[in-house]
Amino acid sequence: MKAASFDYVRPESVAGAVRCLVDAEGDGKIIAGGQSLAPVLAMRLARPRILVDVNRIPGLGALRRDGDSLRIGAMVRHHDLLEQRHSPLLAEAARWIGHAAIRSRGTTGGSIAHADPSAELPVVAAALDATIHAVGPDGGRSIPAVDLFEGALETSLDENEMIVEIEMPIPTAWGFAELSRRHGDFGLVTVVAAEVEGSWRVCIGGLAAVPFRARECEWVLDCGPAGEDRIRQAARAAAAAIETSSDLHATADYRRAMAEEFTRRAIEQAVAATRAGAH
Ligand SMILES: Cc1cc2nc3c(=O)[nH]c(=O)nc-3n(C[C@H](O)[C@H](O)[C@H](O)COP(=O)(O)OP(=O)(O)OC[C@H]3O[C@@H](n4cnc5c(N)ncnc54)[C@H](O)[C@@H]3O)c2cc1C
Repeated sequence: MKAASFDYVRPESVAGAVRCLVDAEGDGKIIAGGQSLAPVLAMRLARPRILVDVNRIPGLGALRRDGDSLRIGAMVRHHDLLEQRHSPLLAEAARWIGHAAIRSRGTTGGSIAHADPSAELPVVAAALDATIHAVGPDGGRSIPAVDLFEGALETSLDENEMIVEIEMPIPTAWGFAELSRRHGDFGLVTVVAAEVEGSWRVCIGGLAAVPFRARECEWVLDCGPAGEDRIRQAARAAAAAIETSSDLHATADYRRAMAEEFTRRAIEQAVAATRAGAH
């Protein structure tokens, strides 16, 4: 199939992009890397009247360290995340996204806004309690990741709002473990374990409509030194709290079992690297 016809605009500023969205009266869509939107248009799952191309807006492709955080412009490509050296966790997560061609076009803001339950970057954002900076007709606002993801492909962004930057702490220890059928496929289960400011964060993607923060698991880890028994107990606590369902790709029991196993691996990776002083 081919996309339905649409008008195309390429504003030169964030304010201009927001104005285009407002003018479209709910019938406009931002296009960034186009790696998720183009297939949606081609299948006519969305038929916006106007596409607002934000690729020419200066400044959105910048990535910089700000103290213990990383500030990532919305147009920073997955490939740029893979290449940067400030946050090895983000580099590892980006390595798992699709293939080279997708990573060279797809953007951080696009992945967060698209909110695919199996995508890697939303899991990292939710794990690290990232802040999403967005601009709309009434100005800018900062949205905690936990308030952004509302459902599968659903966020709390207003239809006229645009993500401009994502701010994420740089963890002192991290582990990333993903189960997918082939490299480049979306993950069946994706786990991020990270230590930020002395406390553990564990988040699992692919199980539910939004990234699942495994609070019980975090609590177990925060209670004492992360030895083998505690890590196993923490992974079990994560699995016990999971609500998931069967689909074409996996049964609920399989996903839960894999979530436990991959949570254990992610935590072990984080703990081992801390001991080796690698982070
Ligand atoms: C074959 C294939 C395999 C893939 N595999 C993976 C994978 O393994 N893991 C993974 O995570 N992703 C995967 N992707 C998706 C890829 O990561 C996309 O790049 C990403 O989901 C969307 O980024 P984008 O810049 O391409 O956004 P676009 O496709 O341009 O836009 C996606 C959505 O976000 C909105 N949007 C974009 N930018 C903004 C913004 N700044 N503010 C507000 N709204 C915005 C758009 O309006 C649209 O609704 C795959 C894609 C393909 C085609």
